[in-house]
Amino acid sequence: MVIIKTPKEIKILREGGRRLAAILYKIKEQIKPGVSSKDLDSYAHRLIKEGGDTPAFLNYRPAGAPKPFPASLCVSVNDEVVHGIPSSKRILKEGDIVSIDLGLKHKGLFTDMALTVPVGKVSPAAAKLLRVTEEALKIAIDAVAAGNTTGDIGSAVESFVRAHKYGIVEVLAGHGVGRAIHEDPFIPNFGRAGKGVKLAPGMVIALEPMINMGTKNVTLDPDGYTFRTADGKPSAHFEHTILIREGEPEILTKI
Ligand code: MG
Repeated sequence: MVIIKTPKEIKILREGGRRLAAILYKIKEQIKPGVSSKDLDSYAHRLIKEGGDTPAFLNYRPAGAPKPFPASLCVSVNDEVVHGIPSSKRILKEGDIVSIDLGLKHKGLFTDMALTVPVGKVSPAAAKLLRVTEEALKIAIDAVAAGNTTGDIGSAVESFVRAHKYGIVEVLAGHGVGRAIHEDPFIPNFGRAGKGVKLAPGMVIALEPMINMGTKNVTLDPDGYTFRTADGKPSAHFEHTILIREGEPEILTKI
């Protein structure tokens, strides 16, 4: 069921989104060679707690998962697409690309955001993948309008990304967010214009293109969380939480 948020909820989500974006940009500043993915997670956890909020992913157990997620931040490096589990043994090195994905619960309501960040100097091919994926998120947001559909968003992302011959991850998608970290509707990064769920003012959605340099196919690690590309090529991921309004949508995860 799609939930329309009340004006009071929207106010809380706007503040939560602002806090989340501020934290994620602080974590981004810490990304450099020699830092472990666990260091980033510990920092995320501390910043959320200092603000009096709750990390949304810590101990979250999606349907079918073998155990609750053990961290606050998802850190996915290179061929890891999303939901990478932070580890003190995973040391970032020059040339890596690292997706940081964070959910925050503020006054009982959830927002969700992700960025992919280069570690030091990366290859031109990796830099292009980041640019195109970030642009794909902008294109997704541009397709958001009351009266449009989830298929309009997917179709816009798909036609833009296909032109670059990249793989669009199909088994994972954007989603409604707010009262829970994952709500209806499911918002694929591909699709047909005019199809799917109609967008209405007061809906809050997380848009998150996950784009692979090679094949669209992904595999799931035995840890039950880490998705990675089937061909070992890198993947990128950008995400914002968006409020649908009459007229232009509002990005809630911004400072
Ligand atoms: Mg999300």
